[in-house]
Amino acid sequence: MKILIAEDDEISRKMMEMKLRKMGYEVAAAENGRDALEKLMSPDGPRLALLDWMMPEMDGAEVCRNLRAANDLQYVFVILLTSKDTREALVEGLDAGADEYLTKPCNSEELKARLRTGERILQLEDKLVAAREEMRFKATHDALTSLWNRGKILESLDMALRRVDSMAVLMCDIDHFKAINDKYGHLVGDAVLRELAGRLRRGVRADDLIGRYGGEEFLVVLNGCAAPRLQERADRLRHSVSAGSFLTDAGEISFTVSIGAVAVASEDSGTPAETILNFADDALYRAKREGRDRVVIAQRLVQNTAN
Ligand code: GH3
Ligand code: MG
Ligand code: MG
Ligand code: MG
Repeated sequence: MKILIAEDDEISRKMMEMKLRKMGYEVAAAENGRDALEKLMSPDGPRLALLDWMMPEMDGAEVCRNLRAANDLQYVFVILLTSKDTREALVEGLDAGADEYLTKPCNSEELKARLRTGERILQLEDKLVAAREEMRFKATHDALTSLWNRGKILESLDMALRRVDSMAVLMCDIDHFKAINDKYGHLVGDAVLRELAGRLRRGVRADDLIGRYGGEEFLVVLNGCAAPRLQERADRLRHSVSAGSFLTDAGEISFTVSIGAVAVASEDSGTPAETILNFADDALYRAKREGRDRVVIAQRLVQNTAN
C-alpha cells in the first residue's frame, strides 16, 4: 500500500521514510504542503498520509482542508504529525479533517497501530464504494443481458430527443420466442436473449444505444442514422443478429427478429419518446403481420402530411 510522508525537515523525513518502508509500505515523500496535496490528489495517489503540521507553503491542516473539500477523490486517511500537544491544537487538526493525530517524536508501535486503523477504514471505504457502484449498475442495467434496462433506455431516448439531429429508433422483437421457450425451456430462452444482446451490441456503433425494453423486445437508437440510410442499416443489423446458429444446452439454435424502425430528424426535437415509440411499435406490428424476419420502416411523412 502507498503512503505519503510530508515533512519539511530532511532528517526526520528520511527516517520516517525508512521506518515506513520497513513496515512494508510503498513510500512517496513531499517536503512541503503544496507538493503533498498535489501528490495526494494525483490519480492513483497514496490513500494514507502522514502530514507534518508545520511546513512551508501550506501547513498540514490546510492540506487536510483542501483534501476534504475535493469531491470526487477517493478517501485519504490522514494522520497529522506535530509537536503541538495542546487540546486546542488537537481539536483544530481534527476539525481540518484529519483522522488521527500523533505528537512527535512518535512511537513506532503507536504509529503502526494508527496505520492499521487507517487501512481498516480504507478497506471499509472500498467496500462501500463497490456496493454503491453495484447498486448504480443494477439500477440502470438489465440483469439478464447487462444492456440498459427499460427505465434507462427510455431516459436516454428522451434526452436524445431533446437535441436530436438525426437518428433512428428500432424496436427489435424475437420471432416466435414463446415457441423457443416451449420447445427448449426457459433457460435456453434466456441464453437466446443473451446471445441476441451480444449480437446487437456487436452490430451497432459505440455511441449507439441498446436497451432491453421488455421480455424479448430490444430498443436500439442509431445515432446519426438519417432516413435514407435507415432501411439498409436496419436490414444489416437484422441480418447480423439472426445469422448463424449458436450452441446451447439444447444443441444448436437459431432465431430471427422482426424490426419496426422510425427515423427521427431535427424537426422532431422535443417530441415525447412515447410518440416515437408508437411509430416504431406500429411498424413492428406490421413486420410481424407481413411474415416476420423483416424490417418495416414507419411511414411518418405520409401521416404527417395527411394531418
Ligand atoms: P412473435 O413472433 O409474435 O413476437 O411471437 P412471440 O412468441 O415471440 O411473442 P409472445 O409475446 O407471444 O411471447 C413472448 C414470450 O417471451 C413470452 C414470455 O414467456 C417470453 N419471455 C419474456 N421474458 C422472458 C425471459 O426473461 N426469459 C425467457 N426465457 N422468456 C421470456
Ligand atoms: Mg515541519
Ligand atoms: Mg414481444
Ligand atoms: Mg416475439
